[in-house]
Amino acid sequence: MFKESTNLPVAVIGAGPIGLSAAVHLLAQGYTPILFEAGDKAGSNLARWGHVRMFSPWAYNVDPAAVALLKQKGWNEPAGNEFPTGKELLEQYVTPLASHCKIAPHLNLNTQVKSVSRLNHDVLRTDGRDEVPFVLRVTGPNGDRDVKAQAVIDASGTYQTPNWLGTHGIPALGENAAADSITYGVPNILGYGRKQYANQSVLVVGGGHSAFNALQDLILLADQYKDMRVLWGVRNACVANVVRSPANDELQERRRLEVRIQDLLEQGRIEVFSELEIEEINRENNRLIVHSGSRKLPPVDRIIAATGFRPNLSLLAELRISLDPATQSPTRLAPLIDPNLHSCGSVPEHGCVELSHPEQDLYIVGIKSYGRAPTFLLKTGYKQVQSVVNALATSEISADINPCAAPAISLCRG
Ligand SMILES: Cc1cc2nc3c(=O)[nH]c(=O)nc-3n(C[C@H](O)[C@H](O)[C@H](O)COP(=O)(O)OP(=O)(O)OC[C@H]3O[C@@H](n4cnc5c(N)ncnc54)[C@H](O)[C@@H]3O)c2cc1C
Repeated sequence: MFKESTNLPVAVIGAGPIGLSAAVHLLAQGYTPILFEAGDKAGSNLARWGHVRMFSPWAYNVDPAAVALLKQKGWNEPAGNEFPTGKELLEQYVTPLASHCKIAPHLNLNTQVKSVSRLNHDVLRTDGRDEVPFVLRVTGPNGDRDVKAQAVIDASGTYQTPNWLGTHGIPALGENAAADSITYGVPNILGYGRKQYANQSVLVVGGGHSAFNALQDLILLADQYKDMRVLWGVRNACVANVVRSPANDELQERRRLEVRIQDLLEQGRIEVFSELEIEEINRENNRLIVHSGSRKLPPVDRIIAATGFRPNLSLLAELRISLDPATQSPTRLAPLIDPNLHSCGSVPEHGCVELSHPEQDLYIVGIKSYGRAPTFLLKTGYKQVQSVVNALATSEISADINPCAAPAISLCRG
C-alpha cells in the first residue's frame, strides 16, 4: 500500500453479492469503502435472473462476515439447506445488506465506473507508479467526476457482456441484424417473457445449466401452448446423457435439473441439433434460419443464447493487469479453473496470491475473476474478498502467504 494516501477510500466496483462482501471485510479492517453500482439497486445483475432457482443452498450463498453484521440488526437467517431463487437471494440477503446502516452510506447507486487509472500515470509510465492513488472516472446522476482511491476491487461481474452465438467468438454473420429476436442469458420465460415465447418455435443454444433452465421453462410453456416447438443446439457431438453430477452431489438442485432435461430428451420433447457451429443467421419470411456449415436448421421465431459470459476489460485498460490469454482470468488463477483442463472438476484453494496483478493494490474478484470460465460459486468469491482485504491490510502478497484461501469446490456449470 503506498504511503501518502492512507486516508483515501478503497473503491469497490459493483454492488453485487461479492462487492458488498468486500465492503463488509474492508469495514472490519478499518478501511473506508466507496462502492459504485451502475444499476438503480444493489444486486442489479441478480435481478436480471431472479426467476432462476440457484443450485447452491443458502449456506453456500451468504458470507459469514455479512451474516454476522446482518444479525446485529435482527436479520432472520434462511434455512441453510434450502435453495433460493436469484430473487430470493436479492430480497432476503443482498438488499438487507446494502441497506444496512454500516454499508448504505458508502454505496453510490446509478453510478457507473467508466475507467480506472493511476494519478498522472497512463499504463506506459512506470516511475513512481505505486506511490500514487488510483483515479476512477465515474458517471452518475450529476454527471462525470474523478474519485481517488488507495486500492481498487473490481467486482463488476460479467452478466452484461454475454458471449455471441457465432462459433468464432465474434457475432455470427447476421447475428446483430437479428438482435430483436435473440435473448442473451436466461430470460424469464414463464413470467414477463411468456407472451414472447407462447406458441413460438424457439432455439436454445448452449450446453450448460443456463440452457437447461431455459429448456425446462419452454417445455412447461409448451404444455399450455400446443403449437410450440423447442429446439436445442449444442456444440457437442453427443448429448445422450446430460446427467453429469454424481447422485450424492452436494448441489442437489443441479442434479435435479439435469435429470429433468434427461427425461425430456427421452420423451422426445426437445429436438436436438448437435455439433452446431453457428456461422450465419438470416431471416426468411420473418423467421430466423441458423446456418452451421452446410446445414440449415428449421426456421425459428426466437433464439435464446445461453452461451456464457465474458468480462468487460475496457475499464481497466490503463492499468497493468495480467490475464491468461484464454480464460481472461488472472494469470495465476487460470490453470486452476481453465475448462480446457478441468471439464467438470473442482475449484482448488486460491486467494490474493492468484488474484494479484503487476498493478499493486488492484484486484478483480467475484465472477469477473473467472473471466470466461463458467464454474464460479459465491462461496469462492466470499473467500476471495476476505483474502484480498487481508492482503491489503497486511501488505503481504507472496507465494508463501495465502492469508485466507478460497474453498475447494466441485462444480461443473455452463
Ligand atoms: C443464471 C445464473 C445462475 C447462477 N447460479 C448460481 C448458484 O446456484 N450458485 C452460485 O454460487 N453461483 C451461481 N451463479 C454465479 C454467480 O454466483 C452469480 O453470477 C453472482 O451474481 C456473481 O456475483 P458478483 O458479485 O461477482 O457479480 P454480479 O452479481 O454480476 O454483480 C456485479 C455488479 O456490478 C455492477 N456493475 C457492472 N459494471 C459496473 C460498472 N462499470 N460500474 C459500476 N457497477 C457496475 C452490476 O450492475 C452488478 O450489480 C449463477 C449465475 C447465473 C447467471
